[in-house]
Amino acid sequence: MITAEERLKSDYACPRCRGSACVVHHVALPHGILPLPFGPYLTTTCVLCGYTEFYDRSVYENLEKPAGEDSARSRRAAS
Ligand SMILES: [Zn+2]
Repeated sequence: MITAEERLKSDYACPRCRGSACVVHHVALPHGILPLPFGPYLTTTCVLCGYTEFYDRSVYENLEKPAGEDSARSRRAAS
């Protein structure tokens, strides 16, 4: 099964420079650094320009499941 990190990399297109390569990091935020929940988060950093995006990992992993056959197959396998 493809991981959220692999999905982020394979889908990546930098919104700033259109680069297609990024580095993914798994991040938990110390309290007080940003007004956000602790996490976990995934970040993508464009290797060409350094533009960085944050993804809430739990949301991203749920959103990323395709609406098609993959999710239907995993539902059947789980029941
Ligand atoms: Zn970029």
